[in-house]
Amino acid sequence: MRAAILAIGSELLGTTRLDTNSLRLTAVLERYGVELVGKSVIGDDEAAIAAELERRIATVDLMLVTGGLGPTADDVTRSATATALGREITVDEEVVAAIRQRFASLGRRMAEVNRRQAEVIAGAEILTNTHGTAPGMRLEEGTATIFLFPGVPHELEHLISVHLEPWLEAQTAASGTAERVERSLLKLACVSESDVEQRLAPAYERFGRDPIAVLASPGEIQIHLAARGSPAERRAKLEAMRRHIRELAGEAVFVEDRDDTLEAVVATLLDRDGATVSTAESCTGGLLAERLTRVPGSSGYFHGGVVAYSNEFKTRLLGISEELIATAGAVSEPVARAMAQGVRTRYGTDFGIGITGIAGPGGGTDAKPVGTVHIAVAGPDDDAIEHRRRRFPGDRQRVRWQTSQLALEMLRRILRARVPRSPEAGEKPTMAQTGAT
Ligand code: AMP
Ligand code: MG
Repeated sequence: MRAAILAIGSELLGTTRLDTNSLRLTAVLERYGVELVGKSVIGDDEAAIAAELERRIATVDLMLVTGGLGPTADDVTRSATATALGREITVDEEVVAAIRQRFASLGRRMAEVNRRQAEVIAGAEILTNTHGTAPGMRLEEGTATIFLFPGVPHELEHLISVHLEPWLEAQTAASGTAERVERSLLKLACVSESDVEQRLAPAYERFGRDPIAVLASPGEIQIHLAARGSPAERRAKLEAMRRHIRELAGEAVFVEDRDDTLEAVVATLLDRDGATVSTAESCTGGLLAERLTRVPGSSGYFHGGVVAYSNEFKTRLLGISEELIATAGAVSEPVARAMAQGVRTRYGTDFGIGITGIAGPGGGTDAKPVGTVHIAVAGPDDDAIEHRRRRFPGDRQRVRWQTSQLALEMLRRILRARVPRSPEAGEKPTMAQTGAT
């Protein structure tokens, strides 16, 4: 089966909106082994949409269209499709009644313009949409099937699961599942892309380059895996790749087969240990506390945090002596350690994290250039405060982000060492914790 995607909306041609719907649809097509032969973006221009549809429909079996099903005059997907197919459009009173009912259930009256959303192209099957007012449509034209979906991402999501996936399931059931692609993911924190590449060399040799893709972003590496074949073959291949990569990458892998964030993984470990944490942040301005509290249920392990930006606040709120700040400097290992220990004892938590650094663009010196940060994690064992000094590249936001990432990673590794190891986690060499120096 060959497919094309058409995203409609003038905003998608500008700089403010990204066409993410095509990515969602592409992921579904991949899963069902449907070949995507083209993607296009067209503005809200009836003639241009009709021309694009005519051209594409002649070359594919499946045409997926999103956007332009709203009630306003710039929503012309319905009429453009009718033009391209040479079909009539009529208002379906049952659909009008359903739209009216949806407004009523929200305590509102339907505006007359919404009748446009009840326009149905002759021969179309209506795809009900309980997440919005505009229903989708499915049409057959020659050997091609055309789906019209609303542009609002969560409505599209809903119609994909209720209408598109069941249809693809039925279509591809007959032709077998051998071409379907299944994906898996491993995520690593605070390691460099080149380090990961080197370590993965044996995996490339064994499985080939194609099914393994390494994607780097500041402070995080994602390894995307893909496998084809029958469902059992795909699962076996993914599992074999994951196991091998886990052996190669060691404890730098913080999550497998799920798109969990680092903070969510840390939350799970804190939860499992029944441990609590507090934070003392200077250059990250509360970013670490914000990330820890993004996870639902964070009150179970996060007691609070201090943003101690000035020297005076470091002294007043965390009990760091003025002499220490004067002699070592505010951005220094002793101050980071004192912040971690100070917040831990004052808040009475199991762990305390201290962060101090120079996010830039100003404030750097030869001895302490912009991007220099000190992170300390104090735990129940008073003598074992962990400390890292790094110099992160990039602008202010990237320095701050990478700092919060490394702080979370340090805590994750400490917690992980406390948790009983699973057999396959093994005693493998660990990957360097650096990455960006
Ligand atoms: P529409 O169905 O064309 O009225 O689109 C409704 C809203 O959905 C637009 O204002 C966009 O914000 C969003 N939207 C439309 N098309 C896309 C797309 N391809 N990707 C992401 N968002 C979209
Ligand atoms: Mg639109």
